[in-house]
Amino acid sequence: MSTKQCPQCGSDLKKCLIQQNYSLVMCPQTDCSYPFNDSEVTENIVYTEDKEILKAAKSRLKEGKENR
Ligand SMILES: [Zn+2]
Repeated sequence: MSTKQCPQCGSDLKKCLIQQNYSLVMCPQTDCSYPFNDSEVTENIVYTEDKEILKAAKSRLKEGKENR
């Protein structure tokens, strides 16, 4: 899997889950509004498999449990 780069600031784009099985590919930089200033935001919505969501959720849980 290749990581796309933000066409506006060059940062690695991240997937943000917006609804079940769909992610929005967006820029992690808070001072960069990509893709919300793009006319075709729908092109950034990608299908995301359950296992990919689970993987992300698990790593998030792991981070939260570090002090246990
Ligand atoms: Zn950006």
